[in-house]
Amino acid sequence: MPPWTNGVLSFNNGNGICYLKLRDTEMCLTKSDMDLSFLPKVQNLRFNRLMKTVLIIDDDRSLRATLSSWLLESGWRVLEAEDGEQGLAFALQHRPDVVLCDLLMPRCNGFHVCRSIRSHRDSLSNTKIIVTTGSAYATDRINAFEAGADEYMVKPIDPDILLTLMDNLVKGKQMVGDISETTLERRNQPPRLKFWGVRGSIPTPGPETVFYGGNTACVEVRAEGEIIILDAGTGIRPLGLSLIEEFKGRSMDLTLLISHTHWDHIQGFPFFLPVYNPKHKIRILGYEGARQGLESTLFAQMESPYFPISLRDVSGHITVEELKDMDFNIGAVGVRAELVNHPGICSSYRIYTSGGSICYLPDVELFQPQRAQNEESPDKLAEQKFASGQDDKLVEFIKDAEVLIIDAQYDATEYEAHVGWGHSCLEDSVRLALRANVKRLFLFHHDPAHADEQISRMVARAREMVEEQGSGMLVEAAREGYELVLEPTAAAANSVKPRISAAG
Ligand SMILES: [Zn+2]
Ligand SMILES: [Zn+2]
Repeated sequence: MPPWTNGVLSFNNGNGICYLKLRDTEMCLTKSDMDLSFLPKVQNLRFNRLMKTVLIIDDDRSLRATLSSWLLESGWRVLEAEDGEQGLAFALQHRPDVVLCDLLMPRCNGFHVCRSIRSHRDSLSNTKIIVTTGSAYATDRINAFEAGADEYMVKPIDPDILLTLMDNLVKGKQMVGDISETTLERRNQPPRLKFWGVRGSIPTPGPETVFYGGNTACVEVRAEGEIIILDAGTGIRPLGLSLIEEFKGRSMDLTLLISHTHWDHIQGFPFFLPVYNPKHKIRILGYEGARQGLESTLFAQMESPYFPISLRDVSGHITVEELKDMDFNIGAVGVRAELVNHPGICSSYRIYTSGGSICYLPDVELFQPQRAQNEESPDKLAEQKFASGQDDKLVEFIKDAEVLIIDAQYDATEYEAHVGWGHSCLEDSVRLALRANVKRLFLFHHDPAHADEQISRMVARAREMVEEQGSGMLVEAAREGYELVLEPTAAAANSVKPRISAAG
């Protein structure tokens, strides 16, 4: 026994590990710590029951010593393990608040440690895992997050960054479940939406489009503490800059809902800066495309020769999930999806918030007007019956929505030359909204050929139609930078929401 164990309960567990109890806390020390140089560190400790515990699992003895020293000085209670197997045993025994885990270790690698900790949902559900590794490979980063890591740090470790990360992780845990402080702050704010890109097909910068904007589809929705981004057209670039400015270094948890993978809905993604910061979690949801999966389509646009950085090499924590169900939840927000008439697979979304529903139908050609033009149909009546039935389904989908954002790319004359192109004309979209008793209509997916003046004329025409029907529906054209705050209502909060399913 080393001489400094006087007054301290300690014993060797026969495995080279010493179990040390000092006042009301305890530590596990490896053989390497059993020298006199460790004594001053121990004597200077001021333990109390509020101290948080960190378990360092690393086969590098000197790194363990360095990390221990930083963490002890910062008021953490420290446990050490020299391989993955021992680390798992200590984790189960001591239920640490944070585990710092290397990846390449003897006996049991770090991926396995992460998975094992996550499999103990009852006893270790509050334990946060930070992978601390020499591997800067994107695949290892992705695999670590998939195995259950909360954060990923590449060595050499910066003590300030590490301590901030650990503090943030633990603070999040002390709030409610797994909800961060910022999420809780946001939860108390009313739902709102903001347009970042409103144009269809291709970006259209220039003096003629300054008022409504030239960026392609991107809408931000905030509701019940969630930040939901609808589509990643070029409007997502300024949204990314704005989020970085707002969060000032704090981590973000974002959900990107993709309607479909036509260029004008995904092309801004490589320029969305949060993608390049490992602190941020970006969850991408959408449906499988007609020819290939969502993930491969998103990845393909960032492959050489199209783009200098592969999506597999970006440092952000990105997950792509292909939706199977039509009802799912994003946190506390219920979402319902409906596949619509547009070339390929294209989804629309109804987002249920405490301020009413927001329906997003960026690209859709209504069935009835399209099929009415079908001269070759052998059975006109059957054709019309089918088309009306499909449009009725859409009316049901958007029924009584607080907000409807819908494709209104053409006016009636232009539509005649664009039947079958996958987009609607203003008149048809307004009629649909009126039938569904929508409260507020935003014309969306503006044609690249439409200057501001023409879009304003289309709004005036839409308002005329609404007035003719004696409806109180509000009509606007979606405009970049326009923000709408929805007042929470008891009725909306109690409205039937989709059940929680896989994407929850
Ligand atoms: Zn589009
Ligand atoms: Zn499209």
